[in-house]
Amino acid sequence: MGIESPQGPLFKNLRYCLRCCVPETEEGMSFDEMGMCQSCQSSEQKMHIDWTVREKKLRNLLEDAKAKAGNNYDCIVPISGGKDSTFQLHVLVKVYNMKPLAVTFNHNWYNEIGWYNLQNALEKFNVDHIMFTPNRKLVNRLAKSSLGAIGDACWHCHAGVGAFPLQVAVNFKIPLLIWGESIAEASGRATYNDPKIVFDREYFTRVSAKKTAKQMVDEDLSEKDLAPFEIPSSESCEAVGVHGIHLGDYIFWDDERQMEFVKRTYEWKEVNIEGTYKRYKSAECVLPGMHDFTKYLKRGFGRATDHACIDVRNGLLSRSEGFKLAKKYDTQEPNALKYYLKITGMTEKEFYEAMKKHRVSQLQDIDLPISKDKKKEEVEPFVQTFLKRIRKEYPDNE
Ligand SMILES: [Zn+2]
Repeated sequence: MGIESPQGPLFKNLRYCLRCCVPETEEGMSFDEMGMCQSCQSSEQKMHIDWTVREKKLRNLLEDAKAKAGNNYDCIVPISGGKDSTFQLHVLVKVYNMKPLAVTFNHNWYNEIGWYNLQNALEKFNVDHIMFTPNRKLVNRLAKSSLGAIGDACWHCHAGVGAFPLQVAVNFKIPLLIWGESIAEASGRATYNDPKIVFDREYFTRVSAKKTAKQMVDEDLSEKDLAPFEIPSSESCEAVGVHGIHLGDYIFWDDERQMEFVKRTYEWKEVNIEGTYKRYKSAECVLPGMHDFTKYLKRGFGRATDHACIDVRNGLLSRSEGFKLAKKYDTQEPNALKYYLKITGMTEKEFYEAMKKHRVSQLQDIDLPISKDKKKEEVEPFVQTFLKRIRKEYPDNE
């Protein structure tokens, strides 16, 4: 019941954007009178924006930051090692001659290529870098409570990516934070003409983490354990004048072309990613498949739908080709589930039961199709594989 024809979307009882493949269950989703989602509206607006005017604004803003910085860093660039990180550093260092401090919240789930891309970017652009790594036990424990709290495995990453750059901004007294992609591009929550969401200190709590560090305190985890995920107070942010921008609001953003550019120019590397057909989004992590599969279990679509939507908007796929890819990839149970169950001590049944509680009302009574591929390679963070390899290659010498 509820499953559509081969050319159409997966669920016939959901309303989908008439131009791309995104369903009504996307967070913050609203359709215009033509039945178009906000991201599709953004992609139309993008063609009519005077990007030279916006670029001039960016130039002034960066010059201003540089003038005020004196001997301090001009700005903070939060980076993961993804293709946006390399592109952001290219724009800031090579084009605008800024001196940024690169800041990484390490979710401690890096894969080998992700680690390479991060280190490669630091070497290529000669930027100073600060990284925070939460301990393994804390990460594993939070991965478990995250599922109940927000319906995905990644609270610690959402919260850390939000909190840590702000902590550095406050402690190093660097007011300007610079992210990559515009919110109008990445999600259905805003458009270029109607930004709706502007960056403030609680931005990541609202958009991705959903729960504050204090709300994650439980019988095992104290406020002290969760302190790394605490957002600095508004007083301390205001004292420094902390504010943030997205480069994508000032320069024309084109994921595919930027990816080709950073590959060719800076030896950035792609990687196979579970749950989608593209090889460059969340490419640094071993568990993006878990994040995207839980989204599918909650909302009836995952990362492949997001990617298909982008390609449909850019004229690279037809809408029905998009639906076909989405059906194939969104429904795949990821290899990473095995690792997730191992670190949380949950059974597969407990996982699926927990996810059922987060499912949107429109899909409550539907059996979501799930495909289980049998040939499964082991997923684990690169650092653990690395430690094992070194122990093996350098056995105890008396
Ligand atoms: Zn759309």
